[in-house]
Amino acid sequence: GEIIQIPDIDASSLQIQNTQSPKTRLPNSKLIFGKTFTDHMLTIPWSSASGWGTPIIKPYGPLELDPSSTVFHYAFTLFEGMKAYRQEDGTVRLFRPDMNMARMNRSAARIALPTFDGEALTELIKKLVVLDSEWIPQEKGYSLYIRPTLIGTQNALGVGPSSDALLFVICSPVGPYYASGFKPVQLLATTKFVRAAPGGTGGYKLGANYAPGVVPQAEAAKEGYSQNLWLYGEDHALTEVGTMNLFAAFKKPDGSVELVTPPLGDMILPGVVRDSALRLAQDHADGKEVLPGLPEKLVVTERKLIMADLVEAEKNGTLFEVFGTGTAAIVSAVDKIGYEGRDIAIPTGPEGLGPIAKGILDRLVAIQTGEIDHPWSVIA
Ligand code: PMP
Repeated sequence: GEIIQIPDIDASSLQIQNTQSPKTRLPNSKLIFGKTFTDHMLTIPWSSASGWGTPIIKPYGPLELDPSSTVFHYAFTLFEGMKAYRQEDGTVRLFRPDMNMARMNRSAARIALPTFDGEALTELIKKLVVLDSEWIPQEKGYSLYIRPTLIGTQNALGVGPSSDALLFVICSPVGPYYASGFKPVQLLATTKFVRAAPGGTGGYKLGANYAPGVVPQAEAAKEGYSQNLWLYGEDHALTEVGTMNLFAAFKKPDGSVELVTPPLGDMILPGVVRDSALRLAQDHADGKEVLPGLPEKLVVTERKLIMADLVEAEKNGTLFEVFGTGTAAIVSAVDKIGYEGRDIAIPTGPEGLGPIAKGILDRLVAIQTGEIDHPWSVIA
C-alpha cells in the first residue's frame, strides 16, 4: 500500500510563550534535588493520526489530562535524566545528549509509544536550557537536571498502544551530590525482591521500573543501608546499585587491577555514565589517555559478577573498590555490602572515594563543565 509519512518532531516550528511572572530563585544552598523547577517547560503532542505536533516552550505549570489517560492506569510513561552545565562565560553545555535520545527512543519503542528524531528533540532542549540558563548556578558542582518525559494520553481504558502521547521536558537546578565531602554508600544485597528479569523491562527507562523499588529501598534503609544491591538468579549475580550502574575492581596476582561491570542485557539500564566510565578506563588501560590516580596496569572487563566473587575477594584481600555510576552523583563509592547476615567491607581510600572512582569522576567533571574540550560535551 501507500506509505503515508506522518510528521516527526520539527524543531523549526517551535513556538515560545515567555513567562509573564518569573519565579523567585532559591539561593544555591537551599536547592533540594528535583524540588525546584525553572520558569519554562517544553511540550510536544503526538497522535497516531497526525504524528508529532507543534513544539511549544511555555511557562512551567500543571498539565491538564483526562482521568482515563493511559498513563494513569497502565504506566505508559518513560523518562530520561541528563544535565546541563554553565561555564563562567555563560556557555551552556549538555553531556552526550545523543545517548539520552537513543535510550529514550528505545524506551518508547518498548511500550509502544511513538519514537522521534532525537536530534530535533536535542535542538529543542537546547532552546529551553538557553532560555532558562539564568537558573543554572555557576558555582562548582551545580548543574541543571533535565527531565524529558513521554506519556500515553489516549482517553480510553482498553490496554493497547496509546493513540495519543505527550512529550514534555522540565528542568531543575541541582547542587553538588557531595556537598560535604564524598560519602560512601552502604548497600543491602537484596535477595527478597528482584528489580528486573530476563525478557523484562529493566534495560529500559520506564516509570514502571521505579515505583516497585521504593519498598525494597525503605526496607534496606530500616536495616541501616542506603541502597539496594540488586541481584539476579540462584548464583546471586550483581546487576545494579539502587538507580546506578555497578563497577567492582579486584587486585590480580600479576599486580594488575581488573575493573569489572556486568554486561548489558535486558536487565541492566545502559547508563550514559557507565558507558563513559568504561571508555575512559579502557583508554587508560590501552595507554591512550592516562587518568591520574588509576592503577598503571588496568584491565577493563564486562563480565558476569556473582556475590561469591566479592566474598572470596574480601577473604583474600583482593577487593580493590566498588562504586556506582549515574547522572545524579556521577560516581558513588560503596564501603559496605550487607549479604546473608553479615557485612562485606570494601576499601574506599582516604578521601572516601577509591582511586578509580576518583580518577573517572575528575575527568568526567572536567569534560562536562568544559574545563577540557571533548566531543562528549555539546554546546547548547
Ligand atoms: N541504572 C538505573 C536503574 C538508573 O535509573 C540510572 C539513572 N538513569 C542508571 C542506572 C544510570 O544511568 P545514567 O548513567 O544514564 O544516569
